Amino acid sequence: MNLAEFIIRIESFNANVDIPLIRKAYEFSDRAHAGQKRSSGEPYVEHCLEVAFVLAEQHLDSTTIAAGLVHDVVEDTEVTLEELRREFGDEVAEMVDGVTKLGAVHFSSREEQQVDYFRKMLLSMAKDIRVILIKLADRLHNMRTLESLPPDKRKRIARETRDVYCPLAHRFGINKVKVELEDISLKYLEPDVYADLAQRLNESREQRERYVAEVAAPLKKALDKDGISATVSGRAKHLDSVYRKIRLRNVPYDEIYDLFAIRVIVNTERECYHTLGIVHSMWKPVSDRFHDYIANPKPNGYRSLHTTAFGPRHRPVEIQIRTQQMHYVAENGIAAHWLYKEGRQQMSKSDRQMVWLRDVLEWQRDMTNPSDFLEYLQIDLYSEDIFVFTPQGMLKHLPKGSTPLDFAFQIHTEIGIHCAGAKINQRLKPLSTELNSGDTVEIITNPKRSPSHDWLKLVKTSSARAKIRRWLKQAGFEQSVALGREVIERKLREKHLKMPGGEAMQEYAEQLDKKSVEDLFAAIGYGSMTPRPLLNLIQPEERKPKTGIVGQVIDRIRGSKGIRVHGMSDMMFRFAGCCQPLPGEDIVGFITRGRGVTVHRADCESAAYLREQSPERSIEVSWDAGKGQSFVVELELVVEDRRNMLRDITEAIADSDTNVRVAEMHSQDTTATGRFVVEVSSLSHLNRIIEKVRKVKGVISVVRSRGRNRAE
Ligand code: MN
Repeated sequence: MNLAEFIIRIESFNANVDIPLIRKAYEFSDRAHAGQKRSSGEPYVEHCLEVAFVLAEQHLDSTTIAAGLVHDVVEDTEVTLEELRREFGDEVAEMVDGVTKLGAVHFSSREEQQVDYFRKMLLSMAKDIRVILIKLADRLHNMRTLESLPPDKRKRIARETRDVYCPLAHRFGINKVKVELEDISLKYLEPDVYADLAQRLNESREQRERYVAEVAAPLKKALDKDGISATVSGRAKHLDSVYRKIRLRNVPYDEIYDLFAIRVIVNTERECYHTLGIVHSMWKPVSDRFHDYIANPKPNGYRSLHTTAFGPRHRPVEIQIRTQQMHYVAENGIAAHWLYKEGRQQMSKSDRQMVWLRDVLEWQRDMTNPSDFLEYLQIDLYSEDIFVFTPQGMLKHLPKGSTPLDFAFQIHTEIGIHCAGAKINQRLKPLSTELNSGDTVEIITNPKRSPSHDWLKLVKTSSARAKIRRWLKQAGFEQSVALGREVIERKLREKHLKMPGGEAMQEYAEQLDKKSVEDLFAAIGYGSMTPRPLLNLIQPEERKPKTGIVGQVIDRIRGSKGIRVHGMSDMMFRFAGCCQPLPGEDIVGFITRGRGVTVHRADCESAAYLREQSPERSIEVSWDAGKGQSFVVELELVVEDRRNMLRDITEAIADSDTNVRVAEMHSQDTTATGRFVVEVSSLSHLNRIIEKVRKVKGVISVVRSRGRNRAE
C-alpha cells in the first residue's frame, strides 16, 4: 500500500478525513524512519501506514490516524517528543508518548492474576483510550508479520497477544481485531492444531457454502414477501473459537454444529424482531439458544439477536440478526459508537471494571459532536489503582498515592520493617515518593532500620499502617519489659538483694498469673501491676498495718474501664483516695511509675501539689464510663448520737438504689461521726443520696470526704 492508495481507501471510510494532516504525518514518519527496515525487509514506514489503516477502518478521527502514522518515531528514531509536539500539537504528541510508554513495559508471567494486572496497568498508563486503540492496531500488524521474527520471539509475542491484547480488544468490542489476533496467536502457539483445524474447515467449505445457500434462499424470499430488504450471509466461526469449543467443552470436531453462523443484516431494530419471527415460523427453534442482545447488550456494547433453529434437513444452524449499525459496532467497537447514534443502550452493571464504558454508552445517547466524545475518552481509566513492577518483573497492585513503603510492606512485612530506601526505575528516591503505574521499584533494606511513628504518615495502604502500628506496639512491649526489670532491680538494690534466677522468677510469674517473666516485667513496666506482689514473693515481709477498712475498699477500686488515658489503650489506673472523682467532674491523671495512672479531681489539693512538683508526670485523661458502671465515694457525717441512727441512714441510702460498701459510726459525747462508702453511678446520683441523708432526723452535716492524706 502506498500513500495514494492509502488516502483513497481511508476516504471511503470517512469523507471528511483531514488529508493535509495525514500527508504531513506520513511524510514526517517517512523522513524519520528513512533507511530503517522491518525484519521482513520492507521499509519501516509500511508498518506505520498499515497501523494507521487499521485505525481508519475503525472510523477513528484524523488525529488518531496521524498519531498512528508517527507512533514509532519517538521510540525508534532521533525525533523527540518536543519536536513532535511542535509539529503536530499536544494531542498527537500525548498519544505517541502514551504508546511509547506502553512499549517500554514488558511482561512474561503467565499467572492469571498477573496477566490481569498487566492489562489493567496498560489501561491505567494510557490516559486516553485512543492510546490503547493505536497499541492494538500496532500489535495487529506486528502479528500479521510475525513470520519474519525468530521462532522463540514469535511464541513470546503470540502468548502476550493472547493473554493481554485479545482480552483488551474484546473489552473494547473491536471484534474484527480480536478475532484476527486470536487466530494468529493460535497459529504460533499451537501450530499443529491450527493447521488441522484450518484444513478441516477448508475441506468442509464447499459443503458449508451449499448449506448456507439452502438456508439463505428461502429466508430471503420470505423476507422479501414482508417487504424487508436484507443481506444474508454465512461465515465460518474463527479458528480460535472452534478450538476453544473442542478443548474446553470437549466437543469432538465432527459434532460441532455451529461451525458457522448465518448473519442477517436488516435496516431497523423492528425488522430484527420481525425477521426473528419469520425464522422461527420457518424452522423450529432449539430451546435455550435464543439471546436478545439488543434489549440486553453485552458489556462491550455488542447488540444482536441470536437464535439456533433446526434448519433444512433438520440441521441446527445459528442465526444472528442485527442492523447495519449494530454490525458496525460489533466489528469496530466503541469507536464506532459515535458514528451510529441510535436508541438507548444499557450496560451490564456487573462489569465493574468497565463502568466507564457504560458511562460512555449512556452518555453518547445524546451525543452529536464526535470530537466531544473523543475528549470524553481522555480520562484516567483506572484512576484509583496503580500497578508497579518488582525488580523480578512481578506486578503489584496498589492504590493510587502509594509510596515505596507501601510497596515494601506488600512484598513482605520484614522488608517493610527494615526498609531503608528505595530505587524507582533504578534511581534512589525518597520513601515519600508517590509511585506511578509501570514503575519498577527496588527496596533497599537494612537490618538496623526500624519503623518510627513518622512512617504512619508515609503510607497510603491500611495494611502497611496496621503492620507499622503492630510493630510499634510490640516495641512498646519491649520497652515495658526493660522498665519493669529496672524498677524491680532498683527496689531489690535498696534492700541489698539480688534478682532471683530464671527458674525462680518463672515460678513467681506463674504464681502472679503471668505466662512468662517477660510478661511479668512488662505488666510492671506498663503499670498494670505494682511491684509489690513480686517483691513480697522474692522476700516475704511482715504485712504493714492496715490503713482501715475504708482505705482497703477504696484501694481495691482499680481497673481499666471508665477512664480513657490520652494516647494509650487499656492503661491501668486507679482513682485517688483523696478526692474520689465521679463521672462529669474535671479530672487529671498522674503517671505513677510502676502503678499506672492515678486519677484525681482537677480541683484536688494533692493534684495541685503533684502538678507543681512534677509536671512531667501529668497526663490527659477523660471519662469513658459506660452504663451500669459504679464509682466509690466516701461520705463523712456528723449526726446526733441516737438509737437506730446507723440503721436509718443506711436505709435512706439504700432507698435511692445504692450499694453501701462500708458503714462506720463512732460516738463522741452527744454527737457521732460516720463514714459511709457507697457506690454511685454519677454526680447526680451522689447528690440525690446526700439530699436523702440530710433529711434523716438528727443528721447535722453530710460531706463528701476530701483531702484526707491517705498513704499512697
Ligand atoms: Mn509499531
